[in-house]
Amino acid sequence: MDHPFDCLVIGAGMAGAICARELAERGGKKVLVLERRDHVGGNAYDCFDKAGVLIHRYGPHIFHTNDSRVFEYLSRFTTWYSYQHQVVANIPAEGGRMELPVPFNLISLEVVFGPHKAASLAKRLIAAYGVEKKVTILELRQHPDPEIAALADYVYEHVFVHYTMKQWGQRPEEIDPNTTARVPVFLSEDCRYFQDLYQGMPIEGYTPMFQRMLDHPDITVALGADAGDRLTLAEGTVLLDGVPFDGTVIYTGAVDELFGCKYGRLPYRTLRFQFETHPVDFWQSHGTVNYTMDQEYTRITEFKYLTGQELPGVTTIMKEYSEAYTGEEGQVPYYAIINEANNALYARYQAEAARYPRFHLLGRLAEYKYYNMDAIAARALALCDDLLK
Ligand code: FAD
Ligand code: UDP
Repeated sequence: MDHPFDCLVIGAGMAGAICARELAERGGKKVLVLERRDHVGGNAYDCFDKAGVLIHRYGPHIFHTNDSRVFEYLSRFTTWYSYQHQVVANIPAEGGRMELPVPFNLISLEVVFGPHKAASLAKRLIAAYGVEKKVTILELRQHPDPEIAALADYVYEHVFVHYTMKQWGQRPEEIDPNTTARVPVFLSEDCRYFQDLYQGMPIEGYTPMFQRMLDHPDITVALGADAGDRLTLAEGTVLLDGVPFDGTVIYTGAVDELFGCKYGRLPYRTLRFQFETHPVDFWQSHGTVNYTMDQEYTRITEFKYLTGQELPGVTTIMKEYSEAYTGEEGQVPYYAIINEANNALYARYQAEAARYPRFHLLGRLAEYKYYNMDAIAARALALCDDLLK
């Protein structure tokens, strides 16, 4: 029996959906997408909860990029609500609590130290690094000027160390430095979380954007379809439903699962989300509030800020708790734990996958990397450029 499909895509997240669309539309291929969840969109999936609030089931997703190809590509499938994300750190303070802009910036400096001292510290920082510069916390802590070093210690203690311990179970200097570098100290009064050229939220949500992307006569999407039940990799041959499949396969799931975790599980962090609906217009001050010094959760997101949804008298928030991933039923691997040992384990699985011609690992899980959506979109487009040359 021949398969009626030219290409097989595992996973209907950003990586899988773009590849399916490109292969079908630009390549004229017949594409089968297998998605184990009961919906498309991967971790960017959103839906309405019982109160009618548009929520992100797998954590807050804000789109931002400097890549005009990616932005234009996605803009074929959605228009955008022009949202610029802002985050504050909520920390204990004398007589209560206070909120500081994150990334820590010149405004945060003023909130903490008052205008006079803040101005003198800002002067020193700008003399050392330059105006509007971004400096990672690990870099700032190395500075020889004792006043800058003292400030770095303040930021480390009040913004980074406890949050990072909650999120990763390790201190900032123990994790991949690129991770804390995502949220540098910013010598600016710009209080946005991202400075990218293009930022926003799909106006009707992510799910309709993905549905439109996958809506093509040559794409078949099977939901509730786990590749583990349909796909076999044996001796360099890919079998789909027990029959050899010699078309292109793009796999966007976790690579250890593909090989029965035979070299051991790849370590990940998972998240537990606690949703709460409250009978108020807004519950907190910003879209995301990070609890950088206390509380068990890392951050609370209030979706109405992100989506711009107008729904008076009710709002839904979500608390995020980070935990070690054990692979137990129902747990989702969200964050690869990037270090030398884990990268070496990943490389063993990658080498295993490389034995299969026309088999491609793509995406945040399959590549074991800390990619934002736009990076995955760019990689998907580049892979398809290559495949369709
Ligand atoms: P995924 O979205 O994980 O999609 C993979 C899909 O494959 C899933 O639907 C999964 O069910 C399916 N799958 C896996 N294994 C199988 C199998 N065996 N059979 C069938 N299907 C399978 N990025 C941003 O740009 N901005 C943000 O604000 C942002 N916030 C984030 C917040 C959190 C909490 C997390 C975890 C990530 C965030 N990201 C954000 C990153 C973003 O989620 C990823 O870049 C993006 O989802 C990657 O897309 P993907 O297709 O590689 O993976
Ligand atoms: N981080 C922190 N305090 C903060 C924000 C971030 O310590 O208030 C560190 C933490 O280690 C986190 C990393 O910076 O994991 C990256 O933060 P980001 O907000 O980019 O994480 P994501 O949204 O991907 O979970």
